[in-house]
Amino acid sequence: MVTIRTDVAILGAGGAGLRAAIALAESDPGLRIALISKVYPMRSHTCAAEGGAAGVIKADDSLEQHFHDTVGGGDWLSDQDAVEYFIREAPGELVQLERWGCPWSRDPDGSVAVRPFGGMKIKRTWYAADKSGFHILHTLFQTSLKHPAIERFDEYYATDLLVDDGRCHGLTAIEMRSGQLREFRAQAVIIAAGGAGRMFRFTTNGAIKTGDGMALAYRAGVPLKDMEFVQYHPTGLPNTGILLTEGCRGEGGILVNRSGYRYLQDYGMGPETAPGKPVLKTMELGPRDRLSQAFWHEMKKGNTIPTPWGECVLLDMRHLGEKLIDERLPFVRELSTSYLGKDPVTEPIPVRPVVHYMMGGIDTDIGAATPLAGLFAAGECACVSINGANRLGSNSLTEILVFGRRAALSAVEYLRSGPRAGNERALTARTAEARERIRRLFEITGGRVSISGLRSEMMDTMEEHAGIYRTGGGLAQACARLSELRERHAGIGLNDRTNVYNTELLQALELKSMLDCAEAVAVSAQARTESRGAHQRLDFVERDDDKFLRHSLAHHRSGQPPRIEYRDVVVTKSQPGVRDYSGDKK
Ligand SMILES: Cc1cc2nc3c(=O)[nH]c(=O)nc-3n(C[C@H](O)[C@H](O)[C@H](O)COP(=O)(O)OP(=O)(O)OC[C@H]3O[C@@H](n4cnc5c(N)ncnc54)[C@H](O)[C@@H]3O)c2cc1C
Repeated sequence: MVTIRTDVAILGAGGAGLRAAIALAESDPGLRIALISKVYPMRSHTCAAEGGAAGVIKADDSLEQHFHDTVGGGDWLSDQDAVEYFIREAPGELVQLERWGCPWSRDPDGSVAVRPFGGMKIKRTWYAADKSGFHILHTLFQTSLKHPAIERFDEYYATDLLVDDGRCHGLTAIEMRSGQLREFRAQAVIIAAGGAGRMFRFTTNGAIKTGDGMALAYRAGVPLKDMEFVQYHPTGLPNTGILLTEGCRGEGGILVNRSGYRYLQDYGMGPETAPGKPVLKTMELGPRDRLSQAFWHEMKKGNTIPTPWGECVLLDMRHLGEKLIDERLPFVRELSTSYLGKDPVTEPIPVRPVVHYMMGGIDTDIGAATPLAGLFAAGECACVSINGANRLGSNSLTEILVFGRRAALSAVEYLRSGPRAGNERALTARTAEARERIRRLFEITGGRVSISGLRSEMMDTMEEHAGIYRTGGGLAQACARLSELRERHAGIGLNDRTNVYNTELLQALELKSMLDCAEAVAVSAQARTESRGAHQRLDFVERDDDKFLRHSLAHHRSGQPPRIEYRDVVVTKSQPGVRDYSGDKK
């Protein structure tokens, strides 16, 4: 067994992981930092982000307004102390990126340009054309290369956390090119392993977003918080789920139903041109949960358009003109043309809501620390929580920076509070258990339970019962089915008996992660008998602040569905109110 000894192991080399690594190296160049990723860092999902990152910069904006947009957008489930910290740190992080070389788009006067984004009542989204995530990730990656303290372990698949005596002491990971299990002994671990959208069939998420980081923490005893809140993005391509950024609507694109009618005005988000309205009208720039719910109602009314891939509405950008589209939305044009054969300059583009983002994740406090000593988490896999019941577009790219750095600072503080070597024998036993779990997969000769079959059943279950609208009955069915799939997963065997890049093995492990996350989503959703943000129950249509102004915490139980507990939301200055996107108020 090869053991790698390091000070901090970071699981994930996307935006949050790289930002954490840089902050660690800057705070102490003598630290040993292991950056572990199942893909080459530039292939992390952050690279796919298009629209931009929110941060107050312009004179007409204020931290106060960013706070209220975020808390109201999250239907008051955000912890307000965390939101205050987030919005305060956000502009500095975006300026820092610029200094490291991020080519933010500019206004004609040379200042940083901002675009409107859904649920943000003021323009505050910084962007680099519609390839913001690519440029952010590239900037972080190239900056990380300057720090010799950061040692990369690309194409290592993390399988388990090493926990002993109530502390995290590292993790185990499969070196994919040899198939060997490696042990990373660390004084602190930061999980920055991204989201879990792949448990649904229609998603904007890349194939690697299988919830591994969440599942690792969950199985090690850290609760998953607010998992019932799954964000649908209203404009995915119907065939592939590929995202057309909210920037399309930020730049003026409109959504119409089969009659060419801008239906959003019927759902409390408009109309656009009433006199005396603020500069930024809502309509297409309403929040994502509301837009996705409006689509569902239009579909039920028969106002959507049937396509070979399901019902759609149209995103019309023709009036923006070729020049603007090529300048600000070149990637959108490329994606629509390549994947659907439709050019937004000349044709409206069919779109439908697709799963996009997990508001929930690993339970952390405002310092990115989990309840397990020595374990920190940041980025999409974590739930701090700033996003509450519905994340506002463009807050996530900023969140990975702000809390990636915060996790690093907290880890440094933890390290400085004294070294804690774990019990050698106990940790060796943990590693042996991890190895044994993998060996067992090889023991069963393939064919008995198919990975793709189970995955398909999981995706269908989630789409059918845990989607935009939910019911108690549907969720009960989902919980029962997911329990059964969890049990059947134990019978999975591998047809590929080799060690080198055994992708079948990785798929089996990823499926286990997704099943764990899916069960946490379904059980948390069943227990939340109210409607809030992205969690809408047809049998409990009202928000219930008396009972549910609380975070759900799903605790893992071996061989059983999770146990759900609740914790009060932190309210500092914004009392729960009515979410108003009619354009009547700022
Ligand atoms: C198409 C798309 C567009 C988006 N656009 C925007 C936008 O415009 N604005 C915005 O604010 N947000 C946007 N988002 C959301 C945002 O991009 C993500 O939430 C954010 O980038 C997540 O960053 P992360 O660092 O947490 O995770 P990721 O970038 O997903 O990185 C996860 C890392 O974890 C590693 N990893 C995972 N599991 C393992 C394992 N078992 N072993 C080893 N390594 C592992 C991966 O290799 C990867 O390096 C978008 C999301 C998508 C899908």
